[in-house]
Amino acid sequence: MSPIDGRAIAKAITAEVSEGVAALRARDVVPTLAVLVPTRDEATAWYVRSIQRAAGKVGVDCRVVQLDDPAERDITRALDELSADASVHGVICQTPLPEGVRLDEVAGHIAPAKDVDGANPLSLGRLAAGLPSYAPATAAAVLEILHREAVPLAGARAVVVGRSTVVGKPAALLLVNEHATVTVCHSRTKDLAAATAEADVLVVAVGRAGFIGAEHVRPGAVVIDVGTNPTADGGLAGDVQYDAVAAVAGSITPVPGGVGPVTTALLLRHTVAAAEG
Ligand code: NAP
Repeated sequence: MSPIDGRAIAKAITAEVSEGVAALRARDVVPTLAVLVPTRDEATAWYVRSIQRAAGKVGVDCRVVQLDDPAERDITRALDELSADASVHGVICQTPLPEGVRLDEVAGHIAPAKDVDGANPLSLGRLAAGLPSYAPATAAAVLEILHREAVPLAGARAVVVGRSTVVGKPAALLLVNEHATVTVCHSRTKDLAAATAEADVLVVAVGRAGFIGAEHVRPGAVVIDVGTNPTADGGLAGDVQYDAVAAVAGSITPVPGGVGPVTTALLLRHTVAAAEG
């Protein structure tokens, strides 16, 4: 088994992004990502700081817009303003949202051209139609890792566990677009282990620590663990039992250090692409 080094992949992407930033800055364009934060959620604040750090390193301007206890219309208004602001190239809205605020409604106010985390339902529709759009950065990270690891996808059997709008569905669409034969599993799936054991490529996005064990994995499969579950000691655990699965898998992403860093790097790559127009 070979572990997949997400940090090294992120570093390679970041180097490419830096070149794009330098070319833009030479034309007096400062690529700018606006991050709307509608709560004081601690995990969100941690994630936003990590985006700011990564952006700072490559020269992308990260503009954090903190709203306190906003109503849905406050969020949609802020997203409309950022979408109309010519100095902003990428716009993301952090979740969780305040109680009663509808994700689809607010995400619909991010202009598709600036929707660098693929949150607007129009972006997902375009992805489904095979049209150019920004995929959610996490789903894009899954595919980026598979490409960089030279995993053959055409004709491969791919199984995605999880069907959320932000990870599972777009990851499945991206895999279909790469000509994989894709099965999507979820909480109603009967005999999950029988389905996952078919996978050449297994993508897991459930949100339950250690949910996938060796019995779910075909020997030699490539396993991409999207899960990020907080642990009691302040760390992060994946959805996959790393040691047990690593013993049978062909390769596997760790948590932390797998999908997470690649996601952030792609958010910046999307922002630079949006600034390039
Ligand atoms: P989510 O919206 O809660 O979706 C979880 C999915 O898992 C649902 O589709 C659910 O099925 C399915 N599921 C739940 N129990 C199951 C079971 N017993 N058997 C099979 N499927 C089951 O979560 P998410 O937003 O997709 O996130 C998933 C994980 O990825 C979380 O740990 C999250 O923190 C992590 N994440 C990581 C990144 C990153 O950058 N690394 C980014 C985003 C999310 P139903 O649809 O039937 O309920």
